[in-house]
Amino acid sequence: MTDVSGPDPRALLAALVRFPTVNPPGSERECVLYCRDVLAGTGIETRVLALDPDRPSLVARVAGRGDAPPLLLHGHVDVVPTEGQAWSVPPFEALERDGFVWGRGTLDDKASVAMMLAAAIRAHRGDPTPAGDVILAIVPDEEAGGRLGAGFLVDDHPDLFDGVRFALGEAGGFTFHLGGRRLYPIQVAEKQTCRLTVTFRGTPGHASFRHRDAAPARLGRALVTLDRRRLPVHVVPSVRLMIDAIADALPAPRGTVLRRLRTPALTDRILDLMGPRLGGTIDPLLHDTVSPVVVRAGDRHNVIPGIAELVLDGRVLPGRGADDLVREVRALLGPDAEVRVDDFQPYPGALDMGLFDVLAGSLRIGDPGGVPVPYVTMASTDARHFARLGIQTYGFTPMRLPAGYAFATMAHGADERIPVDAVGWGTAALSRVLATFGGGRARPA
Ligand SMILES: [Zn+2]
Repeated sequence: MTDVSGPDPRALLAALVRFPTVNPPGSERECVLYCRDVLAGTGIETRVLALDPDRPSLVARVAGRGDAPPLLLHGHVDVVPTEGQAWSVPPFEALERDGFVWGRGTLDDKASVAMMLAAAIRAHRGDPTPAGDVILAIVPDEEAGGRLGAGFLVDDHPDLFDGVRFALGEAGGFTFHLGGRRLYPIQVAEKQTCRLTVTFRGTPGHASFRHRDAAPARLGRALVTLDRRRLPVHVVPSVRLMIDAIADALPAPRGTVLRRLRTPALTDRILDLMGPRLGGTIDPLLHDTVSPVVVRAGDRHNVIPGIAELVLDGRVLPGRGADDLVREVRALLGPDAEVRVDDFQPYPGALDMGLFDVLAGSLRIGDPGGVPVPYVTMASTDARHFARLGIQTYGFTPMRLPAGYAFATMAHGADERIPVDAVGWGTAALSRVLATFGGGRARPA
C-alpha cells in the first residue's frame, strides 16, 4: 500500500523526491501511482495512460463551475542523474536542513508537481471551485524529450485536452533578483532545438605526405569561426516584450541600456559591455545559437580522412525555422560546409498573453514589491508538445527565493534544494490562479 499524504505540499514534495526517478531509465511508475493514490484518496477522477507500462502518465480532472474553458497544469516526475556530482546530502531523501528541502527534483520539477497536486485538491474541495475544469497531467520522460509522456498524450489522447487554451508548466514565477528589484519571470515562449550535422570534404590520402586544406582542417577552421563569431541578431516579438518589461522595471540608466538591445546594430556591442553574467544570459535570446557537441573525422593513424563531420546543437528563436538557421550557418561557415538538419523541435511563434495578467496578479499578492515579467527560455520543455494542440503554456512554478540563490545552477546541479517556505508560498500563488482564471474572484491568501 502506498502511503497517502494529505494536501500538505511539503509532505507531497518530500514523498515525490524519495522516488529515484532518474531518467534514463526513469521508471516513474511508482511515483505516478503515488500521485494517483493521493488524488483518488480525495475523490478526484484520474486516468493512468502509458506507451511504456513502466513509464505511465496520469491525467486527472477537477470539475469547475463550467463558466470558463479548462486550464491545464502539467508537470514531470522524472529527474536528471546525480552521478559525478558532489552532493553534500543523499539526493533522494528530501532532508530538511538550514531552511531548505534538499534533493534531486526539489526544483525540477517535483516542487511544481507537489504544488499542483495540493492546489488541485483544494480546488476539488471547493476552496474555491474554479470557473473552469482543472486538468492535471503528471508525466514521465521530460528530461529526455518527453516522447513517452507529454508527446504521447498529445499524439494519442488529444481529446483529453479539448477546449484547453492555456496551460501552466515549468519554469517561471520565481524570484530573480536584478538591480535591487525582485523580478518574477513568467515563461511565455521557448527556443526550438535543431540538431545539425555539418560535413566537410577534402582529398583523402596517405598521411606521410603533407596535406593542406584537408577535411579535418576545414572542420577546424569552422570550429574557430563558431567560437569567435555570433549568428545575426533577431529581436522576435516575445523577446521584445520581455526586454521592454524588464527595462520598465529597472531604474533609468539600466533600463535605457536594456532597451537599446532591441536595435540590432547595437545589440552585440551592448551584450559585450554587459559582461558574461547578464550579457551571457540575454545573448541567446537575441540570436540563434549553434554549439559544437560532436566532432568526427578519421579512424586510421596513417590515412588523411576525406570527410570530417561536426554535430551542432542548434537553438532557434521562436517563430523562426530550421531553414533560417541553415541559411545563417552556411553564410557563416562558407561554401565548404554542407549543412544538414537531423532533428527540429518546433515551437510556435504566435503568443497568447491572455492569462498573463491573472498570473502576474497572483504573484503581486504574494510579493507586493515584486514585478512579474514575461520571459523566453533558451531551454526546451514539454510546453512544445502541448503547443501542437494550440495550447499556450506559461512557465509558472511560483517560488519566493532569497537573493543569492541561483535557480539556474541549482536545477540539474549538485545540492539541488528549495527553501522550505517557497513550497507553501507557491501553492498559495497557484491556488489564487485556480480561483481567478476565467473570471473567478480572488480572495485574500
Ligand atoms: Zn524540468
